[in-house]
Amino acid sequence: MNPPIALTIATSDPSGGAGIQADLKTFSALGAYGTAVLVALTAQNTHGVTGVHVVPTAFITQQLETLVADVSVDAVKIGMLANAEVVNTVADFLERHRPPSVVLDPVMVATSGDRLLDASAVRDLRDRLLPLADLVTPNLPEAAALLETEPAREDEEIIRQADALRELGVARVLLKGGHRVESAESADYYVDGDVSRWLRAPRVDTTHTHGTGCTLSSAIAALRPRRPDWLSAIEDAKRYVTQSLRAADAVKVGSGHGPVHH
Ligand code: PLP
Repeated sequence: MNPPIALTIATSDPSGGAGIQADLKTFSALGAYGTAVLVALTAQNTHGVTGVHVVPTAFITQQLETLVADVSVDAVKIGMLANAEVVNTVADFLERHRPPSVVLDPVMVATSGDRLLDASAVRDLRDRLLPLADLVTPNLPEAAALLETEPAREDEEIIRQADALRELGVARVLLKGGHRVESAESADYYVDGDVSRWLRAPRVDTTHTHGTGCTLSSAIAALRPRRPDWLSAIEDAKRYVTQSLRAADAVKVGSGHGPVHH
């Protein structure tokens, strides 16, 4: 059987831990054929981002249209989009051409504190892109930004915020609880129209978590075409991320916040 073709629409991280580089490594590790449309470049190492260079939107469209004119994409992962013009360009494209599975990772701020999406772009991401995705994978601060509220701290609040995100027009939400550092587990909450479920994994004791979110969303996109439903793809993707976190200390990259390892 031909491997599923996965597309990442995202940004370069030259340090290789996050962004397009993490997405392609993940696609490859999970048996998908990886394609990539770059919307921006960062200058970045394991200490942080020193600059962002955005691709002109007409050329983002040209990359996307040229690719899909020839290649049949099974699943898309959308990552760092930098600004509102890029958000709207990707939304315009998905309105014209929507592959079978679309995973939106609403990347906003890096663990290093650097902004990866202009604050003014959050509204367009919520109003235009969210309804075009099949699944959105926010962490707690991203969910709060989309809902213009404070990050959830308790389980009931997480459930309420995930439901509120669905009401904004996206079919499925995976709200990632990894930012609750006081918790001994990493508990994510999944909800769609029929099913709601806590997905729990023991917290992995490492500071090398760079690229965790990118890896999870691209793992879901890689696995969804070969799984019977979204939940089983998400469960397997979470197992893959836990394994990548466990392997993180085995690879030494830079002197800062190092990457997960595939
Ligand atoms: N750089 C790029 C290009 C990204 O896409 C992301 C996350 O999506 C990051 C940096 C930040 O990664 P982290 O917060 O895991 O360090």
